[in-house]
Amino acid sequence: MRIPVATPSHNYDVVIGAHHITTALYDLQDKIDEADQLIVFTDENVWALHAKHFTEAFPFDFTVHILQAGEACKTFDSYFAAQTFLLQQKCTRKSMLFAFGGGAVGDLTGYVAATFMRGIPFVQIPTTILAHDSAVGGKTAINHPLGKNMIGAFYQPQAVIYDVDFLATLPEKEVRSGMAEAIKHALISDEQWLQQLMKQDITHLDTAILADYLQRGIRVKAAIVAADEEEHSVRKYLNFGHTYGHAIEAASGFGKVAHGEAVMIGMVYALLLSEKYGDLTRQFTLDFLQFAQANGYVFEPVSHFSFDDLLPFLLKDKKAEYGVLQFVLLTKVGIPYVQKISVEECREVDAILRT
Ligand code: NAD
Ligand code: ZN
Repeated sequence: MRIPVATPSHNYDVVIGAHHITTALYDLQDKIDEADQLIVFTDENVWALHAKHFTEAFPFDFTVHILQAGEACKTFDSYFAAQTFLLQQKCTRKSMLFAFGGGAVGDLTGYVAATFMRGIPFVQIPTTILAHDSAVGGKTAINHPLGKNMIGAFYQPQAVIYDVDFLATLPEKEVRSGMAEAIKHALISDEQWLQQLMKQDITHLDTAILADYLQRGIRVKAAIVAADEEEHSVRKYLNFGHTYGHAIEAASGFGKVAHGEAVMIGMVYALLLSEKYGDLTRQFTLDFLQFAQANGYVFEPVSHFSFDDLLPFLLKDKKAEYGVLQFVLLTKVGIPYVQKISVEECREVDAILRT
């Protein structure tokens, strides 16, 4: 299945399916033929699990650069080593990069591609559920010790080739983390889809259903990114659950709580805030919370911090402009909007989350 992503800077397709990498790459052959070298960036876990399948499916010559797994590949050192690797390989402006891995590999590869010799083409070949979100939309970044994703660029890939077969090896924690973003896409776009999702055991979905949910999430993201590539308006809606979630992640030390697990906490917080302004009821929030807990999402990380511990991170969130707390809330499921909230109100709702 082919989903077009049309942004002001670049049009490309997300091709989602199973065992379709070879054909999807042949579809890019015109661009690939123009490249003098193909370099694949991947991480140690993904390569250990999928090198054979990938090498058999990739129909052109390539050189591989293996990164450390997780956030470790988004450091300055890792970025520097990647650029050194490309220079040592005698890459040029005509070389092409492929990101084979999860969101971390995609973010690093995208940022290397955006900056090596002022920009070379790259293709995303995602291997996590979370990457249905991160591989689409052109945000690329590395981390700074003072903040996650602080150094980056908007830089769109040439294509996203998403083979759901790779997802079979994901640990349950990563499935849960990635599904939180799909649940977010449902919450901000489609009540019926959300209701369908809330009836499922989301860590053990049938592959066809999972693929359907991922393509729906990609369509939501593609539509938003087409309307607002650089997050001046509606792209902010994709931050639903991310303000409070980001504070939990930052306070815990990034990587300790999985991104999606923190976002799930943040989404419940945003639902509690939403109740005060729109049509959502406490009963809906409780039903959603029960669904989340039944699927193994834990809210215990909140108890490690007081509201005052989290506040500096809430204020430092890159979505907080001029010290005003901005939250994406829902009028009802499918209708997001941006609301400014006072610190006192945030504190009150934080107390509700803890009861
Ligand atoms: P990840 O790349 O760190 O992958 C998570 C873990 O799963 C890693 O240990 C990885 O080695 C392993 N893994 C990957 N594929 C696997 C597979 N098929 N089988 C088994 N293990 C596998 O990260 P992620 O969870 O995919 O994404 C999180 C990252 O994405 C964060 O750095 C976050 O900042 C970024 N992100 C970016 C955007 C964006 O728009 N650019 C959006 C959301 C998140
Ligand atoms: Zn996210």
